[in-house]
Amino acid sequence: MKTYRDRVRKPFGDYRDGLSLRRLLNLYDCLVVRFSGGKDSIASFLRVRDLWAGPADKLIVVHGSIPIDWPDAGEYLDYLESVLKHPIVRIAKFGDDSMRAFEERLEKWGYPGANRWCTSTFKVSPLEGYVHKLLRSGRRVLSIYGNRAQESRQRAAQRPRGLWNGRDFVFPIYKWSTEKVLESIDRQGVKLHHSYAQGERMGCPVCGNRSAGEWDMLRKRYPKIWEQGVHWYGRSLKADNYRKGGIAPNHGLKILSRCSTCATRPLTADRAKLWFPNCKLKDLEWVA
Ligand code: SF4
Repeated sequence: MKTYRDRVRKPFGDYRDGLSLRRLLNLYDCLVVRFSGGKDSIASFLRVRDLWAGPADKLIVVHGSIPIDWPDAGEYLDYLESVLKHPIVRIAKFGDDSMRAFEERLEKWGYPGANRWCTSTFKVSPLEGYVHKLLRSGRRVLSIYGNRAQESRQRAAQRPRGLWNGRDFVFPIYKWSTEKVLESIDRQGVKLHHSYAQGERMGCPVCGNRSAGEWDMLRKRYPKIWEQGVHWYGRSLKADNYRKGGIAPNHGLKILSRCSTCATRPLTADRAKLWFPNCKLKDLEWVA
């Protein structure tokens, strides 16, 4: 199955398509690891660090900050820097104004997740800018991503190296199993973020792509974060795309009209039960 994202990835079209990972990495002046702090990005870093023969400061780890990340994401990155003994460049596109910038977009573009404006604004665009600067300084740059085939059918159909929007990239742990990823991290004595122990993962805990079951889990284990998600959801209803009945969190879900109990518009009945436990479903007016 070819996805849009796969269509924008092309092979190098030269000898690099057949090189071993070690030889490929060492053709470049610097490597830029796109780092979320999640297990796959840690394992990718560890793998390329093992194979990289260039100077340590040319193995650059970059993280795009988003204000709806886990509240202790920054502290966890501090921990990773100390245990990995490697700096992590943190890029906050809007600096101290991140939350305001997020909430403005929330009201304009809708709840983050489904249409991924959040990723492109806070992660892809600033990291692309960073790589662009390196390229303009004349360096050959290879971007490293933690994508793995095992994660989904979509990812299994992806090309693991080549050109992505004109940038050289490779997925160094593309064929690794989850067990292998965890083993490689454990071997280095690195502890995963506490959310993993709760069945969660790194990435925004209030992401609109969560399933109903995942929202329920968040409500039970991290009620404060869950409440914050509900608050943002309410604010996102001002967005035009909601008014037009367009993009919704967890795409495919239908939008309900106003709920007289909650004074907001939850999604499906199931979702409403999860997000608005005090909501009396009989009070909902279904529009779909
Ligand atoms: S995890 Fe979800 S909410 Fe966070 S940036 Fe990615 S798509 Fe957006």
